[in-house]
Amino acid sequence: MNDTTYGGIEAGGTKFICAVATQPDTVLAQTEIPTTTPEETLARVVAFFAAQPPVQAVGIGCFGPVDIDLASPTYGHILDTPKVSWSNLDIVGQFSQALKVPISIDTDVNAAALGELRHGAGKDLTALTYMTVGTGIGIGHATSGEVKVASHDTEGGHMLISRLPEDTFTSACPYHESCLEGLASGFALQQRAGVSADKIAADDPIWQLETTYLAYGISNTILMEMPAKIIVGGGVMTHDSLLQTVQQAVLNQLNSYSIGATLANSIEDYLVRPELGKLSGVIGALELAATKS
Ligand SMILES: [Zn+2]
Repeated sequence: MNDTTYGGIEAGGTKFICAVATQPDTVLAQTEIPTTTPEETLARVVAFFAAQPPVQAVGIGCFGPVDIDLASPTYGHILDTPKVSWSNLDIVGQFSQALKVPISIDTDVNAAALGELRHGAGKDLTALTYMTVGTGIGIGHATSGEVKVASHDTEGGHMLISRLPEDTFTSACPYHESCLEGLASGFALQQRAGVSADKIAADDPIWQLETTYLAYGISNTILMEMPAKIIVGGGVMTHDSLLQTVQQAVLNQLNSYSIGATLANSIEDYLVRPELGKLSGVIGALELAATKS
């Protein structure tokens, strides 16, 4: 890469983080724009880029479900989403028309995985997995070399997990009675407690349930994918000692089986927070832009 300027957008369900950079991790300018209506939010994003030096390409890490299959007639569209006004929006087409530069898109979690792989906690690795536990739960993957764009937006956040016998909570997922997002997302925590996750006391038994369910999700991911490292981001994971209790629960669940034995001595280095903090997604989006142009 040289002095070319790129644009990155982390298009999230609550906010869009936009950045301009010459190198993906050398951000010149950035802003956060609330996710309201597509018309309002996209207009503000376009206005941000119009006020910056011209960019050669823009990458988007987008909330899902989003069509990232280049061969699909609806490539670059947000698909059916509970955010009704965003359903079927051709987000790539809209930005392409307004900004007149090549646009590339992947899921928000794949973009975050890419950002961490190239510039964060995975710099010394060839592949990693990124899991976000925020309002929803998403799982993304990145590998070195060619940016791998899956043919479909995967939905690991909805993996089906065992519900604990004492847990009578009605799943927060409208589709699944016992999926990871339905039982353990930030939205589920809010439904359980009646307050947002950041206001739930550290000694509330809810955190024991949360630990077990998140560890199920991570243990399943380890057994299915054997990733070299798993980055766990999102607002819920910033709670107190949640990461540490989840690390221990993963070891207990794997029970020394296979990779579980290896992880007994390295779980603190294996299951880690994002090194780029809240910028993993937008830096990954800048990488998408740099790779595309
Ligand atoms: Zn679900």
